Amino acid sequence: MSVSPSAFLKKNEENNTEFVETKQSQATFIAPEDPLQNLCLASQEILQKAQQSGRSKCLRCGGSRMFYCYTCCVPVENVPVEQIPLVKLPLKIDIIKHPNETDGKSTAIHAKLLAPEFVNIYTYPCIPEYEEKDHEVALIFPGPQSISIKDISFHLQKRIQNKGKTDDPKRPSFKHKKTEEWESCDLNDSKCKGPTLRKVIFIDSTWKQTNKIITDERLQGLLQVELKTRKTCFWRHQKGKPDTFLSTIEAIYYFLVDYHTDILKEKYKGQYDNLLFFYSFMYQLIKNAKYAGTNQTTKLTR
Ligand SMILES: [Zn+2]
Repeated sequence: MSVSPSAFLKKNEENNTEFVETKQSQATFIAPEDPLQNLCLASQEILQKAQQSGRSKCLRCGGSRMFYCYTCCVPVENVPVEQIPLVKLPLKIDIIKHPNETDGKSTAIHAKLLAPEFVNIYTYPCIPEYEEKDHEVALIFPGPQSISIKDISFHLQKRIQNKGKTDDPKRPSFKHKKTEEWESCDLNDSKCKGPTLRKVIFIDSTWKQTNKIITDERLQGLLQVELKTRKTCFWRHQKGKPDTFLSTIEAIYYFLVDYHTDILKEKYKGQYDNLLFFYSFMYQLIKNAKYAGTNQTTKLTR
């Protein structure tokens, strides 16, 4: 019923020639583009080794896991933490996870593993209050009210101006100085980066479970941002949903790439590619498993 990872790899090597041939003859079976193939990634040798030797122990809870422990959010014993890349992000990320979302299936954990200082994962309904921060926080979620990334600065500025006008004197925490500063800033000026977005929120759950979270009072009134153009290569592609619905780590990654160019107005040179360090490796394993005709996706990645 189960094939050990090393046996799988061996089988896969044998199938390599066949795979190349299949690729040529059945073009429709292959994704037309593989967006993960040109990433600037740290060496994945440690993951290859870990994959060959199989599951190992989580040093925190003792659980037996592949690559990382999804309960403790740490890599396992045979993937030393100093051998996985650390990614610096331009803002903080909160991920709100549905309690029924299986931790082992979630890609949100990749963000916490690779950018631990910048990422926090909350399990719904235990989430922070964002009300006071709604001029510097955005929720990444598609919807009728959602705007695109390039319009973030404009909408944040509008919020700051509105706040300035209707500012409640009982709320001394809001800084007037900042309002004036941004009022004099022309967003069409390429040097002006606009108001600062400090935090973005992602929701990590199946699309069915998301409704409960997205309608939560505490998330109402936040600026909602949609990623429109990226296509998913998520292996758990969700039935009946268009392929622009992304896995959590993909959504985070693509958001940051666009944020970098559209808002920070800097050239993107792969700074966040390592967020896909685990994802691209697992994606490749699963793709290979599919071509090899095995159905070991669950076994391989957990
Ligand atoms: Zn653990």
